[in-house]
Amino acid sequence: MKAITVDPMQSGSARYEDFPEPDVNEGSVLVEAVAVGVCGTDVDIVEGNYGWAPPGKSRLVLGHESLGRVIDPGPRSSLKRGDLVVGIVRRPDPVPCPNCAVGEWDMCSNGLYTERGIKEIHGFMSERWRTEPEYAIKVDASLGILGVLLEPMTVITKAIEQVFQAGQRAYWEPKTVLVTGAGPIGLLAALRFSVRNLQVHVLDRADTGPKPDLVRALGATYHTGSVLDLDFDPDIIVECTGVGPVIADSIQKVASGGIICLTGVGHGGVASRAVADVAKAVVLKNNVIVGSVNANKRHWYRAGQNLANSDRAWLSRLITRREKPQDFQKALERQPDDVKVSIQFCEI
Ligand SMILES: [Zn+2]
Repeated sequence: MKAITVDPMQSGSARYEDFPEPDVNEGSVLVEAVAVGVCGTDVDIVEGNYGWAPPGKSRLVLGHESLGRVIDPGPRSSLKRGDLVVGIVRRPDPVPCPNCAVGEWDMCSNGLYTERGIKEIHGFMSERWRTEPEYAIKVDASLGILGVLLEPMTVITKAIEQVFQAGQRAYWEPKTVLVTGAGPIGLLAALRFSVRNLQVHVLDRADTGPKPDLVRALGATYHTGSVLDLDFDPDIIVECTGVGPVIADSIQKVASGGIICLTGVGHGGVASRAVADVAKAVVLKNNVIVGSVNANKRHWYRAGQNLANSDRAWLSRLITRREKPQDFQKALERQPDDVKVSIQFCEI
């Protein structure tokens, strides 16, 4: 079969190539790839900055935002041939740490977890892949290709859960939400907040392209410019850019008692404000700053429900470009109007 593979930590090593069929040890459910979403992590891996091949191997099959169709459900699953499924990305560490022991592998505390297409397990950018039945999430058949948005939806399902869990520390009546960054994660956050009784605002650099209309279609307000120029103090900020000044401005701008959830992974930046001043703002306003990454099975299950209950027409506008597997390099190059780019293995 064909697969998109990479020699991790080697820039320029990604290839679309012949690759052995998935090993039966990778799971009893055999799946035909339909589509795989591309995100910044894939770009990082292909650029040689991140990623680990399986033990004893030199190459890693890329891809963690899967959608596939069951070819063979195997002897011990309730799946049927033809079901649409998405594979869970992270696996608990083998020790296991207390969090992995109770199934909260997203909160793994020793860092020895593995991740499909990222860390020591092959990903989903191959014509066929296998999964253990307990790591396959069945997707509502009516979603079709939109099932490829499930993995990003799990990330935001967890992040929103974290915000409201943190909110239970005190009496809290949030009215306004700011989402910084209108990429797939930010837009899915705006979608999920828009179904609650909250005023939703999204801030991004782009003033053209599909993002402003996607936000307005949710009944939310779109902003460009600085967080500090907003004419309200957000009760909730979900930070999806990972950009230093946006994070610093968010901490300064959040309302008293407000909660900031950081989901963006950036690097560097100039420390525009002294750390003790940032801490003082957080202390005097009783703020919470919570980081959130990955998702466990509870979030995957809920994200599946959230996606199935969402407006299909709006979701379909998030997938702005589809590329063939042999053109994967094009999928990895960011274009100005991209929201989510997917690699299409076959039609459904
Ligand atoms: Zn762990």
